[in-house]
Amino acid sequence: MLPRDPRNPSLLSLVIPLYNEEGSIDALIPRVQGVLEAEGLSAEIILVNDGSADQTWNKMVAWRGVHENLTLVDLSRNFGKEVAITAGLDVADGDAVVIMDGDLQHPPEMIPAFLRRWREGYDIVYGVRRDRSGDGATRRTLSRAFYRVFNSLSSTPITPDAGDFRLMDRKVVEAIRRMRERARFMKGIYSWVGFKSIPVEFDVITRAAGKSSFSPARLFALAFDGLLSFSTAPLKMAVMIGAAFAVVSISMGLYYMARTLILGVDVPGFASIIVSTLALSGLILLQLGLMGLYLGRIYDEVKGRPLYLVRELVGRAAADTPTLARLSDRQVKDLV
Ligand code: UDP
Ligand code: MG
Repeated sequence: MLPRDPRNPSLLSLVIPLYNEEGSIDALIPRVQGVLEAEGLSAEIILVNDGSADQTWNKMVAWRGVHENLTLVDLSRNFGKEVAITAGLDVADGDAVVIMDGDLQHPPEMIPAFLRRWREGYDIVYGVRRDRSGDGATRRTLSRAFYRVFNSLSSTPITPDAGDFRLMDRKVVEAIRRMRERARFMKGIYSWVGFKSIPVEFDVITRAAGKSSFSPARLFALAFDGLLSFSTAPLKMAVMIGAAFAVVSISMGLYYMARTLILGVDVPGFASIIVSTLALSGLILLQLGLMGLYLGRIYDEVKGRPLYLVRELVGRAAADTPTLARLSDRQVKDLV
């Protein structure tokens, strides 16, 4: 008999965040179940309803009547994809956990390829989009620029084009569960925890139904948020600019002092005074604002509110951990 494969998951968890996906869910569940059955995998599917305003939750409950392996988490409101994923990870029991979008842009057929890499010993197998041409030139250029700026400013480099579609070993999930920060830039979090990672290419398909929740403005906010969460470089830059101005002004002061001593007072230059005053006030305000941004983050974190609230939990996890829904975030953190 062959020795038992240590990386044969007795349980695989799939975490799928859903926000207004009533149009996708009826295609999603059969397709995912199909892949699991074809591969003979025993898996729990954790569907997280992120405060959808449509029929998503009702459809989830209906599907739960068909498939026993569904675990349903209903968040009390829309908390955003990052937090919805976190809620799913908190519930996931699997030896390996796969995160995927609910709009079928992440093909479930990739799961066997992810598992193969995991069995080879990789702790994180992340999907990389083979072709981004569907995104449009502007978005691609901006996204490339973001990765370049982020990686030059942050000590936690992130991989371009790697998103949430990934498989993670149990220990990676445990590590991520311990990170309860509010500003949840998942790309940064995935990379911060480290572990042995490998990319696997996949093709993004156009959305099954509905539309993306991420407008350019929201993407920009997310990028800015991520930068502030994983880098204090902007603060250092502010210090450097301040220092440069101090050096320039001191030298100018010395120069004018010497000039006045040697040549006497001449007609004062109003323009230069006004320009330098304006420039300096602008810079001071900019630096104050920057400090305010970080301070606001500290305030948010210090309040220590739970990351999310669960309205209802349906399924196996609910039976096994009846108290999870009632536990505060802090207690959940203490458990892991
Ligand atoms: N999503 C979520 N909460 C949100 C926004 C999105 O749970 O506030 C889910 C959504 O249902 C989908 C996944 O996150 O399963 C990816 O969202 P979307 O397709 O809108 O993003 P994109 O593919 O454009 O990056
Ligand atoms: Mg999508």
